[in-house]
Amino acid sequence: MNIQHHLQPETLMAYAAGTLPAAMALVVGCHAERCSQCRKELRSAEALGGQMLETVAAKPLPEAARNNVMALLDQQPLPERAPASAVASTQGDDSFLPKRLKSLLGIDNYNQLKWRKLAPGIEKFNLPLDEGKSFMLRIGAGLAMPVHTHKGAELTLLLQGGYHDKLGSFHMGDVADLDSSVEHQPVAFDDEPCICLAGMDAGLRFKGLIPTLMKPLTGL
Ligand SMILES: [Zn+2]
Repeated sequence: MNIQHHLQPETLMAYAAGTLPAAMALVVGCHAERCSQCRKELRSAEALGGQMLETVAAKPLPEAARNNVMALLDQQPLPERAPASAVASTQGDDSFLPKRLKSLLGIDNYNQLKWRKLAPGIEKFNLPLDEGKSFMLRIGAGLAMPVHTHKGAELTLLLQGGYHDKLGSFHMGDVADLDSSVEHQPVAFDDEPCICLAGMDAGLRFKGLIPTLMKPLTGL
């Protein structure tokens, strides 16, 4: 899996600090299962968080933040060319079922989900998370989603197939890390249905906090 689209530094920082809503943290964790680059950046974020702790003694890193990162680091580093079965369960040859999603939903493949029809060829499944909004979409080959903007931040991870929009082509494993300024219309690739996992902050603000905190330390 050759990942082209990654998480923004602010998102990785927020994850490491434990300030991401659960709906978005799930997407970050699932992407990181497959992405050594973002795993490496999460380790740096954690190290920076540790330095902040020493400098700003009155601001302990929230317990949840430590748990997020520790859970991630506890996992064996995955070699770039690990067989898919060592990384995640698959259905068929070309879909990616992250371990976090598998255990959260208790499924072995995406056909086991109770998909709800949104429009012809487009189905949705809402995930049971109470922070932010989390759902999956299954979009028929070649179909377009309506043009939309986002009220807040949105992370979308490609689990099967892919789509293209004005930002580029997104393939399995890629993540679109978008803020509310982006207006786009994803169109699924022609050759197979596209399945993706989305996490939104749904009005919960999180970006901006960490960069502000870090300003005195990094001189940004
Ligand atoms: Zn990445």
